[in-house]
Amino acid sequence: MKTYKIAVLKGDGIGPEIVNEAMKALDAVAEKCGFAVEYDEALLGGCAIDATGVPLPDETVAKCKAADSTLLGAVGGAKWDTLPGHLRPEKGLLGIRSALGLFANLRPARIFEPLREASPLRADIINGSLDIMVVRELTGGIYFGERGRLEENGVQAAYDTEKYSVPEIERIARIGFDLAMKRGKKLCSVDKANVLESSRLWRETVTKMAAEYPEVELSYMYVDNCAMQLVRNPSQFDVILTSNIFGDILSDEASMISGSIGMLASASLGETGSGLYEPIHGSAPDIAGQNMANPLATILSVAMMLKYSLGQPQASDMIETAVAQVLTQARTPDIYVEGMRKVTCSEMGDLVAELIRNA
Ligand code: NAD
Repeated sequence: MKTYKIAVLKGDGIGPEIVNEAMKALDAVAEKCGFAVEYDEALLGGCAIDATGVPLPDETVAKCKAADSTLLGAVGGAKWDTLPGHLRPEKGLLGIRSALGLFANLRPARIFEPLREASPLRADIINGSLDIMVVRELTGGIYFGERGRLEENGVQAAYDTEKYSVPEIERIARIGFDLAMKRGKKLCSVDKANVLESSRLWRETVTKMAAEYPEVELSYMYVDNCAMQLVRNPSQFDVILTSNIFGDILSDEASMISGSIGMLASASLGETGSGLYEPIHGSAPDIAGQNMANPLATILSVAMMLKYSLGQPQASDMIETAVAQVLTQARTPDIYVEGMRKVTCSEMGDLVAELIRNA
């Protein structure tokens, strides 16, 4: 039987609670689909600082590198907020992404039918099927480019540089094209090529690569128009491919269309394909330890892991189907509406696992 080794970084706050429920779903789907999962837990963030003095111990990096994939809860909390920058939990998060060479961030934005009312958009705007994947470049561009301060004619100034090389654009574009092939075969490359030279190189490079993907319908959009189209007619998008800074903003905008932070999964991929999977929300210290967090974002992160790193698309679909089903019956407090059964974090995990087992 195929056995997958998963590094598990539960982290802080609600991290351990939500990851435990995601592991229940993974165990259930493994049993159903005939593969095995071995977990290797490691410390990241505040819990790592408490135990070892640093937010990202070497042992954690080694365990993640040795695993087929990594599942992460969330890190951070008030307890560690006053520590110096290099000792903050978030430093562990950036550190593990860079140690694993993760250059692509994937953020799906979709609406589960029973949660339609949670979207801030009007029903007639989201009446079509809505399933967008934002592919954001994660390790280049203006967040990593040359920056500085200077004085010009006695006036203080500052600058940041947006720079992309052809290989950097090619590797992220390949992820976008490959994803489009597995989904609706539509790729929209978002840039600001009417103004920025780096965007013009981005567009030229993506255009050249399109020849390798004749089945993918490639389009281009300026980032300002894309920001508008996402709230005007979001159903037009399948995969959105974009740079680090544009993706940072657009992925937050796109994900909010679905309405609830407790439902949003993400993946970060690198050259090896093993990837890091995590909910987009934080450690929610305000509800930690109360068994009331919504574990569905983490459960859906496992579904992404199965599809994009473990090559188990059927198992992935089973989890997504179980999540869609559970939403018609039960809700954690953050997405509760009258008429539904109000459940705890662990009850929600149990229900999803049960639906998978009974599928
Ligand atoms: P947050 O996402 O933790 O919480 C924002 C709000 O959403 C809170 O009211 C919280 O209760 C709620 N919420 C979040 N996830 C939920 C869930 N699964 N179910 C129900 N409700 C949920 O953001 P914040 O309050 O700005 O940050 C809290 C801590 O998390 C900080 O220390 C921050 O640095 C850290 N953080 C970590 C990550 C990460 O690990 N990737 C991301 C963002 C913030």
